[in-house]
Amino acid sequence: MPSVPTVTLNNGVVMPQLGFGVFQVPDDETAPAVSEALAAGYRSIDTAALYGNERGVGEAVRASGIAREELFITTKLWNSDQGHDEALAAFDASLDKLGMDYVDLYLIHWPTPARDKYVDTWRAFEKLLAEGRTRAIGVSNFQPAHLDRLAQTSDTVPAVNQIELHPGLQQRELREYDRAHGIATEAWSPLAQGALLKADTVTGIAGRHGVTPAQVVLRWHLQIGNVVIPKSVTPERIRQNIDVFGFELDESELAAIDALDEGMRTGLDPDTFN
Ligand code: NDP
Repeated sequence: MPSVPTVTLNNGVVMPQLGFGVFQVPDDETAPAVSEALAAGYRSIDTAALYGNERGVGEAVRASGIAREELFITTKLWNSDQGHDEALAAFDASLDKLGMDYVDLYLIHWPTPARDKYVDTWRAFEKLLAEGRTRAIGVSNFQPAHLDRLAQTSDTVPAVNQIELHPGLQQRELREYDRAHGIATEAWSPLAQGALLKADTVTGIAGRHGVTPAQVVLRWHLQIGNVVIPKSVTPERIRQNIDVFGFELDESELAAIDALDEGMRTGLDPDTFN
């Protein structure tokens, strides 16, 4: 079994640095994919109410026989459920679908600034944290302005900010903000959904190490300190994506990948998505 490094979040909770994402996996295909991931050694699973597959995640977890405390389960609150009371109800619904009595990390999925509800939502998250129903709370797709706004109204600093982050969109400013405020940066679409796996820089480095382009990109993330949650429904790739601890990129290879940043956003823009 690979030994996955961990990061310690700002409230002391320990999170695996590499986990498994299930965005766009239909509910009935989720349990087999998560079972494959658990067998390969993943212990952190990233789902969301929006993905419609919390039930499949719970099913695979129960079937695995792995003790709940060895796992790290993340889910997210969808935008239409923002607001204090709405968030509390949506959290209950997520736990019910997962078939769990707590999660490890609960995230506000998007700030949706025009709705202007994330401050109220955060109060509900603090309540869930205080009650021990989630071990940590965080945000996703938050820009510095949104994080500043939260900080003005709450002393609870988000444990995690999960953002689009890959060699084509390196988010240096936001990563630096997170680091300076004790927020762990978690990369979504860490492989840019495959978009950069044919880049000469990446394939060249992969050839030198005898690994795949995806493994090079994941290694880059890990070495610069990101938490990563690659998604795959392909058993061979699921195993490959966690088999990234037997080689190391040197400074010149890291620098070559750093040079691939082109502000390439593949997903929605957090400032305008409402
Ligand atoms: P990824 O960057 O993880 O890429 C997934 C794609 O790459 C799939 O098409 C997969 O194909 C393919 N792939 C996976 N591994 C390999 C490999 N070793 N070689 C070649 N191709 C590979 O994209 P996601 O958008 O899924 O992001 C990962 C996770 O991040 C999500 O599942 C979700 O948990 C989270 N996320 C969060 C968002 C947010 O707003 N908070 C937004 C988007 C994602 P296949 O499955 O066919 O093998």
